[in-house]
Amino acid sequence: MRGGDMVANRPVRVAVLGRPGSGKGTQSGRLARVLGVPHVSTGELLRAEIERGSPVGRRAQEFVEAGQLVPDEMVLESLAERLDDADIERDGFVLDGFPRTIDQAVALDALLAPAGLDAVVELMVPEREAAERLGARLVCPECGRSVSRDQRSALCDHCGTVLARRADDDVDVIRSRFDVFENETRPLLNGSISTADSSPWTATEPFPKSRGA
Ligand SMILES: [Zn+2]
Repeated sequence: MRGGDMVANRPVRVAVLGRPGSGKGTQSGRLARVLGVPHVSTGELLRAEIERGSPVGRRAQEFVEAGQLVPDEMVLESLAERLDDADIERDGFVLDGFPRTIDQAVALDALLAPAGLDAVVELMVPEREAAERLGARLVCPECGRSVSRDQRSALCDHCGTVLARRADDDVDVIRSRFDVFENETRPLLNGSISTADSSPWTATEPFPKSRGA
């Protein structure tokens, strides 16, 4: 990846995509530090809204507690609010694992219009390796952070809660999450769709790809 010329005097807006287990959280965090821009995860935004008990947080909580996916409109509402913050207007962002669907990509383009994203990075991690990582992953039930099981501690670094296995890291569920990625996210990455004129989704040149560490 080109280093120096990505740090510009204008906002840099990047989305990092990849199948479950490809290391999106880790790599998005690193890229955000390198670029000097905020790392934005819709999962963390929603957790923060729920913690705060904001109106969208209270609505989202019902879905989380029922074990259901939080509807796009709520995800987009919390994202839209974050994208309005001064640090993001000034510096840009690295968006972690979003959008996952064409509908979300279209909605994101609308939020960012007229500028759009500057780049989309796909983390290329083979399915088998990603599945192994997911099987070895522990998650904090309290704050939602995930760590690899070979981590030295059974407690969350952030809040000290005992780490647990995520229900959706079981083998069958991993399989279906990979299928969702192939069917819903992959079309965003192979150049077969276009959303806004300004969006890199329309790029004919493949963006230099980053390998997951
Ligand atoms: Zn925690």
